[in-house]
Amino acid sequence: MPVETSLTPLTDEQRAIVETARAFAATELAPHAADWDARAHFEPSLVAKLGGLGFLGMLLPEAHDGLGLDTLTYLLALEEIAVADASAAVMMSVHNSLPTQMLLRWGTPEQQRRFLAPMARGELLGAFCLSEPDSGSDAASLRTQAVRDGDGWRLTGTKAWVTQGTHAGVLLCMARTDTPEARRGAKGISTFILTPDLPGFGVGKKEDKLGLRASPTVQIVLDDCRVPGDRLLGQEGQGFIYAMQSLDHGRLGIAAQAIGIARAAFEAAVAYAAERRQFGQPIRDFQALQFKLADMAARIASARALLHATAAAKDRGEPITRFGSMCKLLASETAMWVTTQAVQVFGGYGYVKEYPVERYFRDAKVTEIYEGTSEVQRVVIARELYAD
Ligand SMILES: Cc1cc2nc3c(=O)[nH]c(=O)nc-3n(C[C@H](O)[C@H](O)[C@H](O)COP(=O)(O)OP(=O)(O)OC[C@H]3O[C@@H](n4cnc5c(N)ncnc54)[C@H](O)[C@@H]3O)c2cc1C
Repeated sequence: MPVETSLTPLTDEQRAIVETARAFAATELAPHAADWDARAHFEPSLVAKLGGLGFLGMLLPEAHDGLGLDTLTYLLALEEIAVADASAAVMMSVHNSLPTQMLLRWGTPEQQRRFLAPMARGELLGAFCLSEPDSGSDAASLRTQAVRDGDGWRLTGTKAWVTQGTHAGVLLCMARTDTPEARRGAKGISTFILTPDLPGFGVGKKEDKLGLRASPTVQIVLDDCRVPGDRLLGQEGQGFIYAMQSLDHGRLGIAAQAIGIARAAFEAAVAYAAERRQFGQPIRDFQALQFKLADMAARIASARALLHATAAAKDRGEPITRFGSMCKLLASETAMWVTTQAVQVFGGYGYVKEYPVERYFRDAKVTEIYEGTSEVQRVVIARELYAD
């Protein structure tokens, strides 16, 4: 298959990155993905390997040991990783889109010096802690409380659903810095840079998930956790805005992940439909299946085209909140639809673990949930329709 999977014309550099990602996915991910999924095993060596390729600092400048690439190139690589292993893709997406970008955008030079280069090299994995057990879509209702303690802070609360929280060396955590007596809503939230060595920092319950099983999802328990004053990110009271602005970009990564999952299911279905014979002919000769495959191809191509156009708009410095939500909505619902159709193309064999499509189906579901559910994406898009 040629390197291009889309209408987007690629530069030589982009083709080279795609080829590197594809080769890495074929040798380091595809042979293990089913086993890691079955054992819910996170493979820690992947962090150093992806770091060695530069894939954990794709959007960071070279001054921080990053590759200094544009958003489209990053998303092209992410799609290739997701085709082989959606769990590895979410690691790459969270790390590149959220904690590294937050530090790059709002960190002090000292915070950047300490964390960014090790993150780019794969020596420190990043995580993002916004959600809590009672605060998901309504993220501004979070309750983890930070109170001043001398020149630092003490944080108490439970952050939920933290992707790679088990292995993260730096976690960007949103907590309340207003007081229970004078609540300030979203303006009472600040962002803290946590590391697991802080006293009172703990990893709690690990979730037993439907899909994305090789990506550990845990609670982070902060029990009077002492955080030095120089770990506040940016300005006090701006943490919710930082989180929302970062998620605008994070959603492009999740869209690329979803397109990768959909492509994996589509390619498996195309191959299977050519091999499997019923009624004396390959099932691909039945028009009902041809139409299914045609619809799968068309939906993947349209989701990818919107994503690539939005990546270009982001790199031109244009606001992308509305289009970012559209990308995430369209790509995740495409992934869920395409993987459902792929199971159907495989018939009974789509329902068993001997073939990979049931994993794609399970992995696709979460793309409709995290970094804002499909309902929340529709809320964002509808709100933007009536803005100003
Ligand atoms: C595998 C996994 C990994 C995750 N990783 C992270 C992470 O690294 N960091 C992090 O901070 N979070 C993470 N999350 C959390 C994720 O972002 C939340 O699960 C998500 O935002 C939804 O929140 P909730 O689960 O509390 O659902 P709820 O908010 O309780 O929603 C339940 C249902 O109500 C709907 N709903 C809620 N409000 C509205 C509304 N206003 N209009 C219409 N419908 C609405 C929702 O769409 C949904 O269908 C992860 C979640 C999962 C499953």
